Amino acid sequence: MDTITCIKKLGYVGTLTFATVDKNGHPQARSISAIHYEPDAIYFYTARGKNFCQQLLADGHVQILALTKYKEMIRLSAVAKPVPDNEQEHWKDVIFEEQPYLVNVYPGDTRNIGIIFCIRDAQIEYFFLGSHPIEREYLTMGNTEPERKGFEITDSCIACGTCQSVCPQGCIEEGEIFHIQSNHCLHCGNCFENCPAEAIIRLD
Ligand code: SF4
Ligand code: SF4
Repeated sequence: MDTITCIKKLGYVGTLTFATVDKNGHPQARSISAIHYEPDAIYFYTARGKNFCQQLLADGHVQILALTKYKEMIRLSAVAKPVPDNEQEHWKDVIFEEQPYLVNVYPGDTRNIGIIFCIRDAQIEYFFLGSHPIEREYLTMGNTEPERKGFEITDSCIACGTCQSVCPQGCIEEGEIFHIQSNHCLHCGNCFENCPAEAIIRLD
């Protein structure tokens, strides 16, 4: 999997879940389809009166989630920024042309209540549940570091093999110190909970 393919897959899904955090620290999620995809950026439209827009203007942090019909989960963690004023009209034109239903929602000049935001830098998690073992990859868009999540076996491992016997994906390799194949790991925590030497640590 690669970043450009992930972005294309988001476009095929079409309507994505965008999650932010409100001023009370509570999660807020909504479905958004007023989106335009470039190979290296995602543009989207929302109206200034919406809590979503206000949360983005205050903080910008957003998580975007898509599930394809092939059981692929794609998650972007990013900061969204309004595009410069002199580019707003251009990207509104692009999105309204690609998504004709928007003309019914915001006819004529009423579309000016909306703002175009852009995401250029994002951490991307690709998670495919349709194979055994499952596939997981951490990718990036733009200028950011990939995420590190899940579990890792440390030097405290006594090579007892318990973790291997309880791993539902068979993704722990034997050795002097056992090793988790992170690209096949579910992050279920069964190895972590059953290790008698407390040799497994949570990465995040
Ligand atoms: S259960 Fe713990 S000590 Fe045993 S092999 Fe796995 S990591 Fe090592
Ligand atoms: S977290 Fe679950 S899937 Fe990952 S290595 Fe441990 S037991 Fe296996």
